[in-house]
Order: sequence, then C-alpha cells, then structure tokens
Amino acid sequence: MVLIQLRDICKSYPDGKYGRVDVLRGVCTEIESGEFVAVKGPSGSGKTTLLSMLGTLLTPDSGSYHLNGVDMLTPGIDRSPVRNRLTGFVFQDHRLMPQYTVLENILLPTLAYASETGEGDVEYAHALMTATGIARLSQQYPSEISGGEASRAAICRALIMKPLLLLADEPTAQLDRENAYQTTRLLSCLNDVYGTTVVMATHSDRISALAHRTLTLNNGILS
Ligand code: ADP
Ligand code: MG
Repeated sequence: MVLIQLRDICKSYPDGKYGRVDVLRGVCTEIESGEFVAVKGPSGSGKTTLLSMLGTLLTPDSGSYHLNGVDMLTPGIDRSPVRNRLTGFVFQDHRLMPQYTVLENILLPTLAYASETGEGDVEYAHALMTATGIARLSQQYPSEISGGEASRAAICRALIMKPLLLLADEPTAQLDRENAYQTTRLLSCLNDVYGTTVVMATHSDRISALAHRTLTLNNGILS
C-alpha cells in the first residue's frame, strides 16, 4: 500500500532582497507502507525541507502530497492531528527537554491528547525503552545520559504515538561512527518489528546502506 505520494512538489525560499532559491523543483515519489527509505544528498540539498514537508511542518509552494490517502495540502485542513498521530519526528539534535526525565520526555507527546498520561502509555514507553536498550535510564535527566542514549530516547519519543511514519532528519549526525551505525540499525530493527515506515535523511553511504532503498536529492529533484 502506498503511504506517501508526492507529485511535483516545489519549494523555494527568499534569498537576498528580491531573489528566491528553488530548493525542491518538482519532487515526485511514492513510498510504500513499511519501507525504510534513506534520503541522501549533500548539505544544503533540501533534505530537511523535504522531511519537514512530509511531517507537515512546512507547506510547499505547489504540488500534491497524499499521506495514507489523505490530501495533506487541502486549504484549511487542520494538519495538527496528522502531525501528532500519524508522524513522529527525530531531529538532528535530539531536542529532549532538560527539566524532564527520559521517561517523561518520551511521554510528552501523549499529553497533547489528555491531561494525564494513561497507564497504557507508560507501559508502551517502557516497552520502547527496552527495545532501544535504555530501560535502565528512565529516571535519568538528559544531562546525565550520552549522545547515543539521547538519540535512542528521541526515537522512543517519536514512536510513542505509534505513528505510521517516522521521519528522522540526520538522527546520527551528532554521534560517533559506531553509535551512528548502531542507532541506524535500531531504526531498521524498529521498522521490522513495528512495521513503522521510516524516512531518514543522511549524507553517509554507510548509514544509507542499512535502508531498503535510497533516494537522492540533486538540484531539487529526488531520484
Ligand atoms: P539540507 O537539510 O539538505 O542541508 P535544507 O533543506 O536545510 O538542506 O536547506 C536547503 C537550502 O534551503 C539551503 O540552501 C538553505 O540555506 C535554504 N533554506 C532552508 N531553510 C530556509 C529558510 N527558512 N529560509 C531561507 N532559506 C532556507
Ligand atoms: Mg538538514
């Protein structure tokens, strides 16, 4: 089943006083449910722009985007339920909240829907921490854990709402080679176990080799 369908997606940004820079120049692609896709391209090629658009954090100038059969660019559509329930985002810097424990950070997205976190959410958070090897760190604060562990916590937080789509924007950019490889292996394993579709931006061949398929952004075109 097709999860993501992009047609002729264009996005430009203002550049200087009057000019514009075209970052996406007619991106067309389809991604099947359950795939693990790497998006490669050098720095500045538009990977973050593309992933932000897929996560509905950014609206393209033109084109069409269907996620799970729903037209994401319908004017006036409330995209926040999609953002919160269908997609999970792992950022380049993990963006954990320093004042909360690892467990509390992972549970934060659940609070958008209820004033209290449910029993089931806590159980699922523990299952995710076990799956990612950070169960013993649940009561630690972000300042007390390593970069690789923080990435794992950020992945758990992105998965807590059981999204159909996990968007990972160079999630290993801040990690050393071994941790970067292990974190990506973990994404691959979660993709297998939970069936979550993963789209991951990277500029590393070693990392993209772990994906089922690699798409490359070049001059604003994805191929
Ligand atoms: P990547 O993630 O591959 O490094 P980005 O999507 O971050 O690429 O950026 C692509 C291009 O768009 C870069 O030239 C960048 O400077 C430019 N760009 C990104 N975001 C903005 C913005 N908000 N305003 C202006 N230019 C931007
Ligand atoms: Mg980027």
